[in-house]
Amino acid sequence: MRTTKTTRREVLLAATGAMAAAALPIARAPMSRAQPSADVVVIGSGYAGAVTALRLAQKGISCTVLERGRRWPITAAGDTFASAVDPDTRALWLPGVATGVLEVVTGSGINCFAGAGVGGGSLVNYTVMMTPEEDLFRASFDDRLDYDEMVDRWYPRARELIGCSPIPDDVLAADQYSAARAFDELSQRAGLQVRRVPMATDWDVVREEISGRIRPSATVGDCILGVNSGAKLSVDRTILAAAEATGLVTVLALHSVTDVRVDGDRYTLTCAVLDAAGRTRSTTEFHSSTVVFAAGSVGTSKLLVRAGARGDLPRLSTEVGRSWGSSGDHVTVRLGRTADGQGGPAHIVALDWHSGPTPTTLLNFPLGVPVLGGLSQNALAVSIAPPLGSLVYDAAIDAVELRWPAEVPEIARVTKDIGTILAKLDSVSSGSAPALALPAVTSHPLGGAVLGTVTDSYGRIDAHPGLYVVDSSLIPGSTGAVPPALTVTALADRCASALVADLTR
Ligand SMILES: Cc1cc2nc3c(=O)[nH]c(=O)nc-3n(C[C@H](O)[C@H](O)[C@H](O)COP(=O)(O)OP(=O)(O)OC[C@H]3O[C@@H](n4cnc5c(N)ncnc54)[C@H](O)[C@@H]3O)c2cc1C
Repeated sequence: MRTTKTTRREVLLAATGAMAAAALPIARAPMSRAQPSADVVVIGSGYAGAVTALRLAQKGISCTVLERGRRWPITAAGDTFASAVDPDTRALWLPGVATGVLEVVTGSGINCFAGAGVGGGSLVNYTVMMTPEEDLFRASFDDRLDYDEMVDRWYPRARELIGCSPIPDDVLAADQYSAARAFDELSQRAGLQVRRVPMATDWDVVREEISGRIRPSATVGDCILGVNSGAKLSVDRTILAAAEATGLVTVLALHSVTDVRVDGDRYTLTCAVLDAAGRTRSTTEFHSSTVVFAAGSVGTSKLLVRAGARGDLPRLSTEVGRSWGSSGDHVTVRLGRTADGQGGPAHIVALDWHSGPTPTTLLNFPLGVPVLGGLSQNALAVSIAPPLGSLVYDAAIDAVELRWPAEVPEIARVTKDIGTILAKLDSVSSGSAPALALPAVTSHPLGGAVLGTVTDSYGRIDAHPGLYVVDSSLIPGSTGAVPPALTVTALADRCASALVADLTR
């Protein structure tokens, strides 16, 4: 008996036969235990979900990827995403109202940004793909992960999968990047180390924008709501596209997983099928003996914390939801410099890793909107703060709350240390007001299902065989004072290798 309405995409997939490789909702088709239609169900399609799907498919293992958000195909007209100067319903993820690309998770003591859509955080991020230094990596991971193994094997593979290169000379010299050059010059005068770092950006597309051959997007500072020109190498167009091209991976957009529970020797996933406004159109279920959590730090942690508290996954570690951190993120705003030439997605970073107690990377980024009449210079400070945050189940509202104790001395100290680094910039900057460091927002949520605690060292949840975590929730709060996406991808690839080994054993 059919109880769910079929989407146009599902019809197309069925017509092309791709559906045969997918895990069908049990409400629509009976699922044979002996011959399940897909071997694995993956929740989430960001970096971790994409690399997992690809590695499975490369070994001939089929999977269905359930993604709450919609697809964002780049159009020739350059109108895929909303722009920050003229936002509309494509901007924010507001369940029941809009399925925009950017979610703002409101917590206690902190708010976080997260991507929502096929491609996850890669749709909205600033594309900076940095590898941490050894001592800083150890400060974040202790002995949970071997640095040499990561640097020798998994980081190079991740860079290749994502496709990374630094801003080229000719682009940096363009008028559109004058703010980048000003940041470079100011940071050097302040004694900070300046670097052009690998970026998941197609600089040839940026050159097309600069030459006027295509509509500008990255070069006018569009980023956090998506880049319309296609300059951003989001994983829906790279890693996930390669996975889908195998014919073994089916991505179901607008499928939001609400519950995961153990059911004998399998797992049942309940999924809300959403319409474009994020309203639940129908509910459906998937059954699988192998489920991979790749819903991001907050998404995965929320699902696991709630499932543990309600007894749906009764053997989960009591550490689920703990060791959550903000990557030490502080949004810093400096007034007094003209915000012209704010090309992006980003370009140059300034480092202060060893002079003080808090190693910090400053990423100069465009907002895409003029602030205070064009007078602003923004940088995101990424550092290492202790992972003292948590996600906690509230039975009264049957929901999970994010808590970040910003006021405790260990975290307040990080804010103070970053202020000291900003003061170096202030000291060489004529006429600008002192910079502010705001700890209340993070773009880099990490932790909640930490490696070696909630899972083994490859993301397996031993107490529930067949459950795996592969995403940013594995990471205890920071990635060595650099932004996390490259580490997330490298670690997911490492976990996927264990998953593949388990399934092919
Ligand atoms: C504004 C912004 C800027 C950033 N800039 C950078 C940067 O320059 N460099 C860098 O290294 N990092 C950056 N990051 C962080 C980086 O993007 C993340 O660390 C990375 O995306 C995490 O990867 P992930 O696979 O763990 O999760 P995500 O990429 O977040 O993917 C999780 C996916 O799961 C989906 N999902 C969540 N819950 C459910 C559910 N219940 N059911 C179905 N699907 C679900 C989400 O919609 C999402 O698509 C930035 C992030 C943001 C938000």
